[in-house]
Amino acid sequence: MYYLEAIAHNPRGERVVHILAVLILVAMIAPKALAEDESGSSPAVDVASIPEMPSPSFRMYNPFRMFFRGVEVRITWAGPPDKPIVALTFDDGPHPVFTPQILRILEDHGVPATFFVVGRNGEKNPELLRLAKEKGHALGNHTFSHTRITAATNGRLKEEIERTREIIFLETGVYTQLFRPPFGAFDARSLAEVAHRDLEVVLWSVDSRDWATHSIGDIRRNVEKRVHPGAIILMHDVHQQTVEALPGLLEFLKGKGYTFVTIPELLPIDRVAWGG
Ligand SMILES: [Zn+2]
Repeated sequence: MYYLEAIAHNPRGERVVHILAVLILVAMIAPKALAEDESGSSPAVDVASIPEMPSPSFRMYNPFRMFFRGVEVRITWAGPPDKPIVALTFDDGPHPVFTPQILRILEDHGVPATFFVVGRNGEKNPELLRLAKEKGHALGNHTFSHTRITAATNGRLKEEIERTREIIFLETGVYTQLFRPPFGAFDARSLAEVAHRDLEVVLWSVDSRDWATHSIGDIRRNVEKRVHPGAIILMHDVHQQTVEALPGLLEFLKGKGYTFVTIPELLPIDRVAWGG
């Protein structure tokens, strides 16, 4: 996929790339009906959205750039594939019980991660936002109320995004430019709204499926089978099973020679303070 990236940097090829990008995305979304869904129920398929990550055989190394309504949108599924690094990401917290446990495990292993914060949970547990920041983790925006952004009006979306960004900023001083859409669902309109607010869309290339199973073995296998250099790994800091699977998973990844980075460290984007 460096091919796309290379052409994207060629001004004469720009238009072709954008058309190509849209065609590829359409091809990707058509057969996909799965989505991140903490409830485990089957979500409705929204043909105008991209419900989940591309299949493991189709990985795009970021940043993948597109234009919607004149707004540049950048979407990331994975980092550069040429280094043995991975980025752990934890969504939906902070949770008063599980987030502190995860922070302790990460600290014990000397591992940094990125937390995609649900604003209302950050509002309830502001000390955990500060603690995550103090321990060297990055923070991202996951909307205020874990809303499906394809179903939110532009006004609601603005509030969901800006309220969460403000909570993170007031508590930690981090002006985050990382955004992960709940359920991995987005469409052109919602993407334009997100990008318009100076946010990078960060998805994932490896889903631990810790939201779908209580089995620690399954969570570990889901990651261990699919992990690759540059992987962005999806986990959640709101489940007991995630806490229990994490130490063994960290040992496995270290044993395979991987080192851990935050999303801002993973992505070769030359911007100041874009992750925090
Ligand atoms: Zn989520």
